[in-house]
Amino acid sequence: MSILVTGGAGYIGSIVTEELIEQGEQVVVFDNLSYGHRAAVHPDAEFIAGDLADRPAVSAIFEHHPIDAIMHFASYTLVGESMEVPFKYLGDNVTNGLNLLREAVDHGVRRFILSSTANLFDQPEDIPIDEDERIIPGSPYGESKYVLERVLHWLDRIYGFRFAALRYFNAAGASPSGQRGEDHEPETHLIPLTLQVALGQRERIVIFGDDYQTRDGTCVRDYIHVTDLARAHILALEALAEGSRTYNLGNGRGFTVREVIDTCRQVTGHPIPAVVGERRPGDPPALIASSDKIRDELGWSPRYPDLETIVAHAWRWHRTHPFGYEG
Ligand code: UDP
Repeated sequence: MSILVTGGAGYIGSIVTEELIEQGEQVVVFDNLSYGHRAAVHPDAEFIAGDLADRPAVSAIFEHHPIDAIMHFASYTLVGESMEVPFKYLGDNVTNGLNLLREAVDHGVRRFILSSTANLFDQPEDIPIDEDERIIPGSPYGESKYVLERVLHWLDRIYGFRFAALRYFNAAGASPSGQRGEDHEPETHLIPLTLQVALGQRERIVIFGDDYQTRDGTCVRDYIHVTDLARAHILALEALAEGSRTYNLGNGRGFTVREVIDTCRQVTGHPIPAVVGERRPGDPPALIASSDKIRDELGWSPRYPDLETIVAHAWRWHRTHPFGYEG
């Protein structure tokens, strides 16, 4: 198959690309490199530098390549930023996704994987969160993904466009090959920030609030190994022939911020000083996925469910790439 991966120079997109190539697929990566890294793109993938806002450039991809399916990762992804500059999300994320979808439909492509988010579940009634949970996006970021999920629903009904929407919980870790991992600027995520303390690049990690109704007062999240996410994309793509689908993707286990920091201490052998700071606005106390649906329907199960392994892979990446790809 020939698969177009938008955002294939980013964290998750580059690792999905690596998995696809290892499976023998042909991959075309389209990325504007605003956040991604050219060096993250697998050398056997074809790389096209371009922006989804540029519709003729998007059209040209399909004119020059026989694309069978699309995996769409390219988007702005920061919840906090989306609360400050909502049009970047409700505008650009949505219109860029629509440009891609329009060109896909016009060029006869009918298979699509959307990277969606747990930010659709701002006030979950039941934890673990399954696909029947009420959708209440927690931010313009989450809303932008939900809009695209709804667009896909209609494209399926009208054009027979087959899609899978994969709602990630907390993607973490690095590729087991050691070659690809997290390199965000700015970095906002708990595990890479904590490991930067172990690398001596930060003095301490700030815990965003310890007065939540959780077992140690800090927020609970479901950390899923990025390679397990990648494998879910491949299974979902294979299953599209039998119809569109939506899955929540996590490990089904929650860890508090303190537990994550402790695991980073164990893995790195560094004391990693931590201080308690203010709550971060918009953080729900606990988000844990039920991934029963994708387990039952596609036989997916995480290969690296242990937090120690997830952190160990992340640590190997950060230790060998202390300044990310550019370093
Ligand atoms: N967090 C923290 N300190 C940090 C960064 C994150 O305490 O410097 C907490 C954050 O409040 C959340 C958890 O760690 O409860 C995971 O945050 P992250 O930004 O990694 O992912 P999110 O859950 O927001 O997608």
